[in-house]
Amino acid sequence: MCIFCKIIAGEIPSYKIYEDDNAFAFLDIKPVNPGHVLVIPKKHYQNMEEIPDSDLQALILVVKKIGAALKNKLGVIGYNIHENNDLIAGQAVPHLHFHIIPRIETDCLSHWPGSPYLPGQAEDIIKKLSF
Ligand code: AMP
Ligand code: ZN
Repeated sequence: MCIFCKIIAGEIPSYKIYEDDNAFAFLDIKPVNPGHVLVIPKKHYQNMEEIPDSDLQALILVVKKIGAALKNKLGVIGYNIHENNDLIAGQAVPHLHFHIIPRIETDCLSHWPGSPYLPGQAEDIIKKLSF
């Protein structure tokens, strides 16, 4: 059983903030900022491709509710929603989870850097990727 399945089962303690038939939400143990929440499906799916659409729809509505609760109840003024999909993307726990990360003006975090496409590169990509 993965660590998040153990949290859902109550075998590992967590600071739970919300639970329903499909979803479970709790505080990240090493928050980027205080109030950093993880929202997970109760069924074990590793990533976005594995989770059925209906479960994902239910889950994202919980993410939305918790984002609003951070603002309404904790006075958070803005937040990032983040999901690491697979090892290469930094997914340490192989159970799909959305991070909801409150932002504070003094956190000094910045968005990851971007750089322009090389000539023809965007055209090559859309040829393969458009559907
Ligand atoms: P990720 O890199 O997207 O897989 O993030 C995994 C997150 O799970 C990290 O932010 C960890 O701090 C968090 N985490 C790991 N173990 C626990 C735990 N037992 N309780 C709460 N959060 C945890
Ligand atoms: Zn799991």
